[in-house]
Amino acid sequence: MSERCASNDSTLLFACSGGSNVGQIANDAAVALDKLGQDQMYCAIGVAAKFPGFVETAAKADKRVLIDGCEVQCLKKAFEAAGLTAEVHVIVTDLGIEKGHHFDRTQDEVARVAGAVSKLIGVTPCCSGS
Ligand code: SF4
Repeated sequence: MSERCASNDSTLLFACSGGSNVGQIANDAAVALDKLGQDQMYCAIGVAAKFPGFVETAAKADKRVLIDGCEVQCLKKAFEAAGLTAEVHVIVTDLGIEKGHHFDRTQDEVARVAGAVSKLIGVTPCCSGS
């Protein structure tokens, strides 16, 4: 178990998981980070649907980490509509990955996004705006 896992700092990861390469890269990056055992991926669509249990769980987290695929920022806007803010927000297309309506993606692209998220989680304790 990592030190972060052992601490009381609960971080939840959310991905837009949209129907494009960048949406799926967002999803893959969140899955990869979850598999590392440091932070837990949680159901973004449950929050977007404003199901009380999902919103409550997200609200209780010490950090909410949102990974949006593109500048439309569906995930961030859904969280705002649910009355939640994010401590970390990453947009895949801001990292030099072009959006396309296909699902081709590489491990390098996923690693680039996961690395950017990890860096922000560790270096930037609070950045509710982006
Ligand atoms: S943020 Fe972009 S990639 Fe993600 S669901 Fe919205 S439009 Fe699709």
